[in-house]
Amino acid sequence: MVNIEGLKYQQTNGKDNDVRLIRVALPVPMMRLFDYRLADDTASMAAQYEPVVGARVRVSFANRELVGFITAIDVTSDFAADKIKAAGKILDAQPLFPAPLWHLLHFAAQYYHHPLGEVLQHAAPAALRKGDLADYQSVRQYQLTEAAQACAAEDFKRAPQQWRLLNALRTRAYTPSELRDEDFSPSALKALQDKGLIASEDVVPTLTGWSFQAGAEGHDLNPEQALAVAALSQATAKSSGSVWLLEGVTGSGKTEVYLQAMVAVLKAGKQVLVLVPEIGLTPQTVARFKERFHVPVVALHSGLSDGERLQGWLQARDNEAAIIIGTRSAIFTPCSALGLIVLDEEHDNSFKQQDGFRYNARDLAVKRAYDQKVPLVLGTATPSLESIANVESGRYHHLQLSIRAGNASMAKHRVIDLKLERLKHGLSESLLGRMKQHLEAGNQVLLFLNRRGFASALMCHECGWVGECARCERPFTVHQQQHNLQCHHCGAERAIPRQCHACGSTQLITQGLGTEQLEEVLTEALPDYPVLRIDRDSTRKKGQLAAHLSAAAAGEYPILIGTQMLAKGHHFPNVTLVALLDVDGALYSSDFRAAERLGQLYTQVAGRAGRASKPGVVVLQTHHPEHPLLQELVNNGYQDFARSALAERRTAMLPPAASMALIRSEATHASDAEQLLQAMSQVLQGHPGVHVLGPMSAPMPRRAGRYRFQLLLHAAARKDLHEHLRARRSELDSLPQARKARWSLDIDPQDFV
Ligand code: ADP
Ligand code: ZN
Ligand code: ZN
Repeated sequence: MVNIEGLKYQQTNGKDNDVRLIRVALPVPMMRLFDYRLADDTASMAAQYEPVVGARVRVSFANRELVGFITAIDVTSDFAADKIKAAGKILDAQPLFPAPLWHLLHFAAQYYHHPLGEVLQHAAPAALRKGDLADYQSVRQYQLTEAAQACAAEDFKRAPQQWRLLNALRTRAYTPSELRDEDFSPSALKALQDKGLIASEDVVPTLTGWSFQAGAEGHDLNPEQALAVAALSQATAKSSGSVWLLEGVTGSGKTEVYLQAMVAVLKAGKQVLVLVPEIGLTPQTVARFKERFHVPVVALHSGLSDGERLQGWLQARDNEAAIIIGTRSAIFTPCSALGLIVLDEEHDNSFKQQDGFRYNARDLAVKRAYDQKVPLVLGTATPSLESIANVESGRYHHLQLSIRAGNASMAKHRVIDLKLERLKHGLSESLLGRMKQHLEAGNQVLLFLNRRGFASALMCHECGWVGECARCERPFTVHQQQHNLQCHHCGAERAIPRQCHACGSTQLITQGLGTEQLEEVLTEALPDYPVLRIDRDSTRKKGQLAAHLSAAAAGEYPILIGTQMLAKGHHFPNVTLVALLDVDGALYSSDFRAAERLGQLYTQVAGRAGRASKPGVVVLQTHHPEHPLLQELVNNGYQDFARSALAERRTAMLPPAASMALIRSEATHASDAEQLLQAMSQVLQGHPGVHVLGPMSAPMPRRAGRYRFQLLLHAAARKDLHEHLRARRSELDSLPQARKARWSLDIDPQDFV
């Protein structure tokens, strides 16, 4: 089991009694721990901490220096003493992770069958992975100088940005990341510094703690909201874990429920951990929490420097931050006084990490809530079938918000049968007609098309040749603005050819409408109405997404075009017409989750319409208006749809009615990838409760030049699956075929691509 760098070893009976050995989890892709000798030289001992379980230690491994975690002390090793290397410096006097988190991480390593060392490393902020001290470093702070006190509004008539910054700094000092969070312009900062009105100082923060201070008033709750807040407040007063599915239609005031349920927690001096999907973590989300509570808020987002991230992590750990908001990986933030976990948009796929350590932050949040005896709220308008099943079995409590907050009314639904219409650039006549009506009335329309770029393929009009990425065997997407072809699977780029590679014809045409083309078409068809496109290409630069979203919300563009990005949680009060142009692909997909995703997407996109007092209309263009799934969704809504989808999963014995694990392999030669899974399939056969399906080609059989195969494990009982995998793991790891192909194990896989 325990080995060092694969060296052969002999049994020893610990002749050298005064040598102390530690066992270390290292960030390497091996399911084992490693033994090291504590440095015996007393001179260096003086500079180092006593070993404790959970502290980091530097060690050398395969000619590299790594930072690992001590998992046991004074172990006896199976290895000859002279084969065991000396450990380097111990970096922490205390365990790095508080006990509950340490246990959660062990659980996660077990549950996801992932090396403990990699899990621990994943959970630590980058600075700590590199071996920095887990201590506060100095942080730059900007504050007003004496001279700034005399400034008056009329001096800044021409510099409103500067005036806004000046006023913000009147209340307190700001760090660089806080300035960014609140969108203050760097040039305004520079100008004020040059005028001697703002000074900066590097300070090591002092630990002051925090006390509850209310900010802006909340809304008066409607009866359903009040019921939800009361139930959650009771739950937070108890010291036991519980999970609450807050199922509220879009715009029903779920966030308002979180905010008011947080009051009692914060008043008791306890912390709230808030998890949001990547896209939701815009400055507006953070601003909403800051506005409501005048307590320290830490936002852990991708724009932070390593130092800022470490600082946020420490503040959370030491209860210096009252509210911690972050994406998926924030589930691993230590909180010494945790009182409540909120996970917004629980159905969102971004809570599942899709590579490396493939964990699901939502599922780990459930575990953490029980371990730490705090309530967890899972909020969404479109619950995952997993969460609905957990409500039905009584594991989760259910709270419902069935009406929109304020005066907002629900949207009406219309289906356009494309078999009866002529399509012009993806738009039907009747949709175009409706758009004109809404635009003429001074409202906004939102078109949803989940395909970025100009066109999904470039084709020869004479011979049918299609420009394909040779490494993925999939058509290139045409990007007109960047003047190239791009492979959306591997990132490859090519110049747009002038001639067909097969017959030399110059008659190349595009196929399949993308958002870029839609923007062009609409600008031509409706020249009076400016178009804003929001997709990954139009929001690549930092701050662009936030700027686009606020322009969209402010009604600056009558026509909005968006991909998946626009489906999530944003409020566009003037949008009265939402149209989904092309979602038919999901109706006949081989992925059993495709229907659930379509239901969620449709409902979420529909939720962008008619948020204020203006009633909205949702239009769906389809070739299959009779499809039972669409019928249920459009006529009865997501709740009924999801419950019948769940019934279907149960009949088919699919998750959540069963458990799955997926083994993926890939190699430059197809046979290497396939043979590895064939061997694995043989190792894994034979358990009566675990079915092994495959190997089969992946739905995308080739990507970036590598051939891809899958092996699916299916079990009615989760326990069987896990025990079986655990029992056979070392056999899998030592298969000779594994040297020729890469493989990975995905527990509770979310996508099968
Ligand atoms: P959700 O999170 O469910 O999408 P929000 O909490 O963001 O909904 O609320 C949608 C809008 O309704 C927001 O503008 C919010 O300020 C407002 N709102 C929420 N609750 C109430 C209420 N009880 N009365 C009036 N307006 C409310
Ligand atoms: Zn051709
Ligand atoms: Zn490719």
